[in-house]
Amino acid sequence: MSLHIPFDNSFARLPSGFYAAQKPHPVKAPRLVAWNARLAGLLGLPEQSEAEFAEVFAGNRLPEGAEPLAQLYSGHQFGQYNPQLGDGRAILLGEVVGLDGVRRDIQLKGAGRTPFSRGGDGRAWLGPVLREYVVSEAMHALGIPTTRALAAVETGEEVWRESILPGAVLTRVARSHLRVGTFQVFAARGDVASLKQLTDYGIARHYPEADGPMGLLSAVGAAQAELIASWLSVGFIHGVMNTDNSSISGETIDYGPCAFLDVYHPETVFSSIDRGGRYAYANQPDIAVWNLAQLATALIQQYEDPQVVVEEATRIVHAMPGQIHRAWLRRFGAKIGIAEAREEDAGLIGDLLNRMAENRADFTNTFRALPAGKARDQFTDPAAFDQWAEGWRARLAEEADPEAVMRAANPAVIPRNHRMEEMIAAAVQGDYAPFHRLNAVLARPYDDQPEAADLARAPLPEEVVPATFC
Ligand code: AMP
Ligand code: MG
Ligand code: MG
Repeated sequence: MSLHIPFDNSFARLPSGFYAAQKPHPVKAPRLVAWNARLAGLLGLPEQSEAEFAEVFAGNRLPEGAEPLAQLYSGHQFGQYNPQLGDGRAILLGEVVGLDGVRRDIQLKGAGRTPFSRGGDGRAWLGPVLREYVVSEAMHALGIPTTRALAAVETGEEVWRESILPGAVLTRVARSHLRVGTFQVFAARGDVASLKQLTDYGIARHYPEADGPMGLLSAVGAAQAELIASWLSVGFIHGVMNTDNSSISGETIDYGPCAFLDVYHPETVFSSIDRGGRYAYANQPDIAVWNLAQLATALIQQYEDPQVVVEEATRIVHAMPGQIHRAWLRRFGAKIGIAEAREEDAGLIGDLLNRMAENRADFTNTFRALPAGKARDQFTDPAAFDQWAEGWRARLAEEADPEAVMRAANPAVIPRNHRMEEMIAAAVQGDYAPFHRLNAVLARPYDDQPEAADLARAPLPEEVVPATFC
């Protein structure tokens, strides 16, 4: 019996200029290597054999009701406008409304060439597929809005990158794949009718209470502000915050050369393609504001006289740094045990971060060790921590239960880059045990898991993986 998915495809009902109809290209020998049964349950998918899931989520068999398509978008890549990007290797199968009432896209990433592939092969190799699977699910468990991973399938085909690598397809689930770049493409073309239709669609799908284009802009700014602060609070560096990788829904999207901080330093960059450090850890707030300004620029094109809303759009964009700062203060306040941080607490937080950077302190483990009084061990000069801790303890005297606040705000385990590389190397050799173990441990990031101490430990100097490739 073939898989029945209760599709309801709202994007496919938009005019044909929004996408290109495109079936996935079949692969030679699909093999299901990961299946997210809990997410499948939430989506209302029925149980099926692994072989059937492998066929469907490799793109070899189209489930009934699927209307496969590649979405059109453009975007600024590293600050340069590229007038046409689009899904070059991703194919939207359709949408389902889950048991929680939320509409989500089901998309195959690595499903073959589309009209937007340009020079690319439309494929993905196993490493980035497993990386996205683990990191996106870990982000979800950390409580951070993100696209999800439903399945990973090996294709049985080779992919040519810097070497010959095993191919794979990821099934990505998202509240939508509307990006800043989805709006930019119509604005840049002067296609006001499509821009208006997309705006209405985005509002209806994500922010039904939003009033018009400026209401949408304001809602996206608020969601993105919260998102960026949440990234900073767990030491996450996205790595490619191009406007086509900036989701209207406020979910983290497009896990490429992303990574988490080991040692804290604000200028940390992992991505091998980010040579100027545009997307460094501490630049992420500024970039998010810059991306919102691009969305504003696109949205105002639908007004007969854009001048009438320029002031309002500017005000919304200019509000974002303050929104990010307040969300940052709330989250970092909690990380040091302050339930409701006040503006005057920002100095205390900033002082700790500066000392961490100077003393090569591990980001995750320093915060996690605070309640037990062991954070000083993370500092090359523990006295630097002790000096800070005097003022900190005085401030905590005003707090009811700082330990509980810290435990809830500070994960014990995050997907460390060296463990991700190990996991990928093992999977390429056919050993999926590290992959499954990472998923199981990262599903409970705020619990102490003594049996997974090796995954919580910071890398030894010889274990550090300082660069990521996409
Ligand atoms: P990204 O840097 O992942 O956001 O991708 C930027 C653009 O490149 C998007 O339009 C992708 O669809 C496209 N792209 C990335 N990898 C491939 C590939 N292997 N084949 C075709 N297009 C790709
Ligand atoms: Mg992308
Ligand atoms: Mg990508």
